[in-house]
Parts: sequence; C-alpha cells; structure tokens
Amino acid sequence: MIELTKQIIKYPRFVTKEWEPFDAIELARLTENIVCRKEDSARKYTAFYATGVYGGIATGYAVGCCLRCVFCWVELSREFPERYGEFFTPEEAYEHIVATAKKYGVHKARVSGCEPTLCRGHLIGLLEHIEDDHHIKIFILETNGILFGIDKDYVREIFDRFDKVYVRLSLKAGTPEDFQRKTGARKENFEIPFQAIRNMVDVVGIETLGKRWHVAAMSLDPRIMSPEERMSLLKRLMDIDMRILVLLEEEIVDPYKTTLLRLKAAGLDLKWPIKKIYRPAKEIIRELLKK
Ligand code: SF4
Repeated sequence: MIELTKQIIKYPRFVTKEWEPFDAIELARLTENIVCRKEDSARKYTAFYATGVYGGIATGYAVGCCLRCVFCWVELSREFPERYGEFFTPEEAYEHIVATAKKYGVHKARVSGCEPTLCRGHLIGLLEHIEDDHHIKIFILETNGILFGIDKDYVREIFDRFDKVYVRLSLKAGTPEDFQRKTGARKENFEIPFQAIRNMVDVVGIETLGKRWHVAAMSLDPRIMSPEERMSLLKRLMDIDMRILVLLEEEIVDPYKTTLLRLKAAGLDLKWPIKKIYRPAKEIIRELLKK
C-alpha cells in the first residue's frame, strides 16, 4: 500500500516543456497496479455507452494508458487513474457492453478511453464472453501497440483465440525525437509499435490486412507533423509492407476540451480551424498502383 502510494505520487500526468520522459513499459505496469485488480481480473471503467463511430458501437470507457499523447482526447482519467472509475470484472463489463449494444441496436463493441491491452487478464476474460455472444459481431481493439510490440505471444493469443477481434493500431509519430515530444515516452520506445505491426504480420499474415487489422496514424495534420517526419513514418511502414499504406487511416487533431488542455500544458499552440491537411498517403499509393 505504501509502495502504491509512492508510485501514485510520482505518476506521470501532463506533458510539459520540462517533461522528464518515462518508459512506456514501466508506465504500463505502474498503471496496471492502479486500474487492474489481480484477484478477479477487474478493471476500472467510468461509463458504458454507444456512439456513432464505426457506424455505431457499444463502448466500455475504461481507465489508464501507458502513453501521454499531447493530442489525446480522452478524459482526465488518463492523468489521474486513481481518482476515476469503478472496478468491473470481465463478466460485468461484458454484460454492460452487450446490454448497451442491444439497447442501441448496434453489433460492434470496443473498450475505449484507455489502452485496452493493459490488464491482459481482464481483456482476455472480456473477449471470451464477447466471442460466445450472439449479438456482438465484431470487437474493435484500438491500441497504441506498446504491449503488442514487446510480446508476440499476446498478439498470437488475441488473434488465435478470438475471431471477432479486429485490431486498429494507432501510430503517434514518425521519428524517435517526435515520439518523445508527442507521447512523453522515451525515444527508445519509438520502435515498439512498429514491432507490434511486424508481430501482427508474422502471426496472421499481411493478407489479413483490412480483414483483421489495419494501421492508423496521426499523420494528416501539418500542425503536429512536419513533412519530413511524415515521410519517415510512411517509409517505415513501407519497409514493413507497402500494402499497409493502401489502408492507412490518417487523422487530424480535433479540439476536444481535454486535447486543448494537454496541448496548452505541452506549450503547443495549434490554430483552429485547420486550414490545410496533407494528401492522404493511400490516395497517392492507389493512384501509383493504377499506372
Ligand atoms: S491517444 Fe491513445 S495512446 Fe495516446 S495517450 Fe490517449 S489513449 Fe493513450
């Protein structure tokens, strides 16, 4: 208990200009100490609701992440996991998610507001229920790729055991320095999400791209990514497999209240509304492939 209190005192909150980078794997374990309960695989959630993204999806809004992206939109439960949420076992979370899906007539589900791969026992337990459920047809696993990058067996377990899982892996930066600046994590962690992509390719094959997984990146927004950084990111993906670019989902920063707060803390001054975005890489690649 004293140890946990000490960890909470030192817990990384908002990225600032004087930020001391943390190790994302260490932060994952530290966060798990706060938001996961070992004895019954419970995890902290703050809400269950349905939203229009993905054409309608039931969402369990859970607590805790191992990065501190400056453009992140999630609630302040990210910075203060000890203050937010209540514990739900995998079965309880499943019951809430499926009840929400039925209430709103949607057949997709996800865990959002957090990094869902934290609390592995909880996620596996939840997916076991989802896999057996007749109403939920697909579970979209949105991840930053940190835990999938350091553990190929975790990736294998997810894909081998759960046919309903579709992974959306989201990249945050195109160089180690930019990764550190934008996520608060050490630049040495930059490579890990790319390793997660390689792990997925090894486990389920590139031919399952678009059927079981795809990559997203915060790379359409010139306010947060320079052309050089973007080129570096696209090249890294191309080095893994060019087909990843054909389905690359690129994003811009949206002005959520929490995003604005985090950008301000980091000393970043973005202008709204956005005036210009990059041309999506997938458009360029598709055009080239037609020639
Ligand atoms: S954007 Fe995603 S990975 Fe980054 S801090 Fe927010 S929840 Fe975590």
